[in-house]
Amino acid sequence: PRAGGLVPASGPAPGPAQLRCYAGGLAGLSAALLRTDSFVGGRWLPAAATFPVQDPASGAALGMVADCGVREARAAVRAAYEAFCRWREVSAKERSSLLRKWYNLMIQNKDDLARIITAESGKPLKEAHGEILYSAFFLEWFSEEARRVYGDIIYTPAKDRRALVLKQPIGVAAVITPWNFPSAMITRKVGAALAAGCTVVVKPAEDTPFSALALAEVNQGFLLDLDPLLLASQAGIPSGVYNVIPCSRKNAKEVGEAICTDPLVSKISFTGSTTTGKILLHHAANSVKRVSMELGGLAPFIVFDSANVDQAVAGAMASKFRNTGQTCVCSNQFLVQRGIHDAFVKAFAEAMKKNLRVGNGFEEGTTQGPLINEKAVEKVEKQVNDAVSKGATVVTGGKRHQLGKNFFEPTLLCNVTQDMLCTHEETFGPLAPVIKFDTEEEAIAIANAADVGLAGYFYSQDPAQIWRVAEQLEVGMVGVNEGLISSVECPFGGVKQSGLGREGSKYGIDEYLELKYVCYGGL
Ligand code: NAP
Repeated sequence: PRAGGLVPASGPAPGPAQLRCYAGGLAGLSAALLRTDSFVGGRWLPAAATFPVQDPASGAALGMVADCGVREARAAVRAAYEAFCRWREVSAKERSSLLRKWYNLMIQNKDDLARIITAESGKPLKEAHGEILYSAFFLEWFSEEARRVYGDIIYTPAKDRRALVLKQPIGVAAVITPWNFPSAMITRKVGAALAAGCTVVVKPAEDTPFSALALAEVNQGFLLDLDPLLLASQAGIPSGVYNVIPCSRKNAKEVGEAICTDPLVSKISFTGSTTTGKILLHHAANSVKRVSMELGGLAPFIVFDSANVDQAVAGAMASKFRNTGQTCVCSNQFLVQRGIHDAFVKAFAEAMKKNLRVGNGFEEGTTQGPLINEKAVEKVEKQVNDAVSKGATVVTGGKRHQLGKNFFEPTLLCNVTQDMLCTHEETFGPLAPVIKFDTEEEAIAIANAADVGLAGYFYSQDPAQIWRVAEQLEVGMVGVNEGLISSVECPFGGVKQSGLGREGSKYGIDEYLELKYVCYGGL
């Protein structure tokens, strides 16, 4: 058995020549973790074509990755389906211990895994370390939840019958994930799916395939070379349970359609933009599949007159500037009550100037890395220009950063009004627009005008107001006097066009389970 070490299961690791093209931050990384092939049925498989992955900070080539197409997608679904027939028979306790081993191996390799995230997404290394822990904690959490799936016995009016409710794994899940959390968005789904007894085909984002492939490699660290039929009773996650098919943006549409319409797939789990989510919902509708959709947000951050300014600024910094503003729960618009407005804006601007440092994610002290690509920079620039042309004032920042084409200055705008783009379009960048308001009703009305509702934050010291506002905000998650709310123990998800279903928490595993009613008669 191949246990412990990170030795590739099959196929050679990238050679020194290939490694030389990895950006500086990856030099010295365990070569075995940098996989470039797809991972299907427990094997590393090249595709007919490859696509380049770049470091968004320097533009340096990180490597060429297998560009899977429809053929590879179908093969991965087939492998996942065959594995499902075995995996669902594995006991919950055993699935639990396998997920726990995967968690342990992630922790053992956390430094290398974090560096991969920084190299491909630009995220500051400290945040990448945070993501790896968050990501691994989903495997740990669902290793625990795997053993806590219970059914029911129901007493019906008929005395000679009992009604049983069984919870069974749905089947193969198609998992499509974004680039902004290249590791955690995968384990949040895959941990729950595997715990429930499902198998997965993962299509990672074009910009960040290395993290998804490294997760497979880490998993391989305890994969045993045994007859697959025997694996169910052995100590390794069977081949075909976790499959990864990277592809270029050019192929994403047809690969997405192939995995989301395949009759062998029973579940679609997606994290990404609302626009793509709607396309996948069409696929799901045509073949009637279960769906989980974690889509975009437009998080309001409301500061009421009674708020503690220092706390509100600390929360604003954390919720706005994490991952350079590129998280789905980042505050998108700041609504600040007239009485506290000037003090808040002044303190927020000072905190931004003092605490934010733009740079390469590998550099010590960097808090703001590059945006994922130039298109993302153009979007922020367009929102700033639009706001300024309609009367907004730049308090700090406001333009591209001298460091390079993917960098933008952390920006604070005030005198913002609701006719400006930045108040109704997800920014996904380091822009904080401030709207001044007078009454609680006005703030709630502005916040709830959005057609999405993922996270919302507010600061207040008034207990009655806290209850009122927490209940009235049309979002799936509320931070009260708190700017960082994600945790594996709590349900993550949105309302309106922010999505369907919840991930993490004790509810997350239900997304991968079917209820089966058994009427047991003749008693
Ligand atoms: P995106 O463009 O929707 O892409 C997400 C994933 O979908 C990528 O893997 C992408 O592949 C793939 N994709 C794109 N078009 C597709 C199609 N027609 N069929 C199948 N797959 C397709 O989103 P993004 O820009 O990467 O991510 C940012 C968005 O994600 C934001 O809106 C953010 O709010 C949201 N998000 C939500 C959550 C949440 O939990 N609610 C968490 C994180 C991010 P390519 O990379 O090849 O284009």
